[in-house]
Amino acid sequence: MKINGNFLNIAESYLFSMTAKKIREFVAETGKDVIRLSIGDVTLPLPAACVEAMEKASREMGNKATFKGYGEEQGYEFLREKIREYYTAKGVDLSINEIFISDGAKSDLGNILDIFAKDNIVYMSDIVYPVYLDTNIMAGREVKFFEGNAKNSFLPLPDENVKADIIYICSPCNPTGAVYNKEQLKVWVDYANRNGAVILFDAAYEAFIRDKSLPTSIYEIEGAKECAIEICSFSKTAGFTGTRCGYTIVPLDLVRENVALNKLWLRRQTTKFNGVSYIIQRGAEAVFTDEGMKQVRQNIDYYLGNADIMRKTLKEMGIWFVGGDNSPYIWLKCPGGMSSWEYFDFLLSHGVAGTPGVGFGKNGEGFFRLTAFGDRDNVIKAMERFKNAK
Ligand code: PLP
Repeated sequence: MKINGNFLNIAESYLFSMTAKKIREFVAETGKDVIRLSIGDVTLPLPAACVEAMEKASREMGNKATFKGYGEEQGYEFLREKIREYYTAKGVDLSINEIFISDGAKSDLGNILDIFAKDNIVYMSDIVYPVYLDTNIMAGREVKFFEGNAKNSFLPLPDENVKADIIYICSPCNPTGAVYNKEQLKVWVDYANRNGAVILFDAAYEAFIRDKSLPTSIYEIEGAKECAIEICSFSKTAGFTGTRCGYTIVPLDLVRENVALNKLWLRRQTTKFNGVSYIIQRGAEAVFTDEGMKQVRQNIDYYLGNADIMRKTLKEMGIWFVGGDNSPYIWLKCPGGMSSWEYFDFLLSHGVAGTPGVGFGKNGEGFFRLTAFGDRDNVIKAMERFKNAK
């Protein structure tokens, strides 16, 4: 027996274990409290509409007349239909056969690679949600990077000299909070179509986009259905991080080597996946009711309100940053030329924890991520500490 040796090529991620260790040690040594602006998880509870729908669905499962066994691997039609309507409202026409329900974006980001040959060249930002890189290293694929930096406001465009087959785009981006506009996404779509490449578009934070001119789906861009797969999630939209539900869209028009990728993904899912729980899918369906939409919006407003308080403080302090207006993440330049870890230690000594940018890739050195998922009072207190930190 031989192991998959590619696993040995994955860099150990010290980022979250190291930050947790440093916070623990600081609290033990000083007895002071630390406000965590490093949380990448939602903190508000599920919308009441989702809870009620799941309670009702649980009771259906306990009744012989309404009990459900295996569902469709692609997801129940009632949920796929609601997602289709959600896209119609964005001006995007989808067929429900293009929508696949999943247990979250992370699983599908990993699983989708099953349908691509190993010798494809992958192209992604060098500051990236680590799952994109690690899943490709596990599969032994060659990865090239495009460079996000302060000059391009962390919204890099393709280098025409690079030939790539699979492209990752995350917008709004974790960790930078930057959001591509339509013109910029069109450049990526045209590049992908010219090169016969496929874009994997991660829209996990689309619900945070409040600027109506910004695209919340890549399919708002002409030509995207011929080159892009969109992966989305209820995690950050509706607080489903612990409940688990997402969806992936594989357009029927996306064809490579005369094969519709939709067919391959359907085959993959029907072989290796047995669907998401009926109860959870009913909970996700409730997101699209009037009440659900209202509650989801209230929660996201709360997080964006936190981000707004942070943005105002950073502006007052003259600190360079992107994000936080249409995303729960703020990406700032460490003041005084500090490195990411120096700034982490500095802020921690004043009772605030964030995430060192260098942990997301080499271009993240000298930058720092703050998240808006915390409690309002803590955010206000943390910003006072920011201003007084000397
Ligand atoms: N994509 C991005 C960019 C994320 O930041 C996250 C989670 O933090 C995910 C995907 C994973 O989402 P899910 O909870 O649906 O697996």
